[in-house]
Amino acid sequence: MSNVFKDLKYVEVSFKCTLCGLCCVNTRMELLPEDIERIEQLGYSLNYFAEFDEEYGVWRLKNINGHCVFFDEASKKCRIYENRPVGCRLYPLNYDDDYGVVVDKYCPQWGTVPVSEVKRLRPIVELFVRRIRETDEYVRVKRAGIRIHLRIH
Ligand code: SF4
Ligand code: SF4
Repeated sequence: MSNVFKDLKYVEVSFKCTLCGLCCVNTRMELLPEDIERIEQLGYSLNYFAEFDEEYGVWRLKNINGHCVFFDEASKKCRIYENRPVGCRLYPLNYDDDYGVVVDKYCPQWGTVPVSEVKRLRPIVELFVRRIRETDEYVRVKRAGIRIHLRIH
């Protein structure tokens, strides 16, 4: 099986997103190793776009002026939309410890997410949640200069 997070064509919620940008305000979006690798390949340094959350042991997108570092205030668009993190591509699907995969009602368009999309993407959201704590190890190994190959578990 190929790494679904490297081949992003299936990782996209089909619903009526209006690109309102609300989900880019004060983002707490976690990053996978593949996200860091892909965004660094665009020429951005890790310190520019990510920070480590000591409390949860995960890497997250950085905010600047109250919104994600990649959110362009003038156009209200994501500057790396085609390469945005997996978590952004899966939103408004979220993971709740009690209920599992849910649709986040903070998104004004949450009601337009078809049940079939929740069903289709549930295993991918679950895989995402299982893997977000691997990112710190990826960063440490990378900083140590060791070449690694990403694979799913
Ligand atoms: S909050 Fe919802 S509708 Fe607005 S940009 Fe984010 S996903 Fe799209
Ligand atoms: S990467 Fe793009 S879509 Fe994701 S929070 Fe930042 S601006 Fe929004």
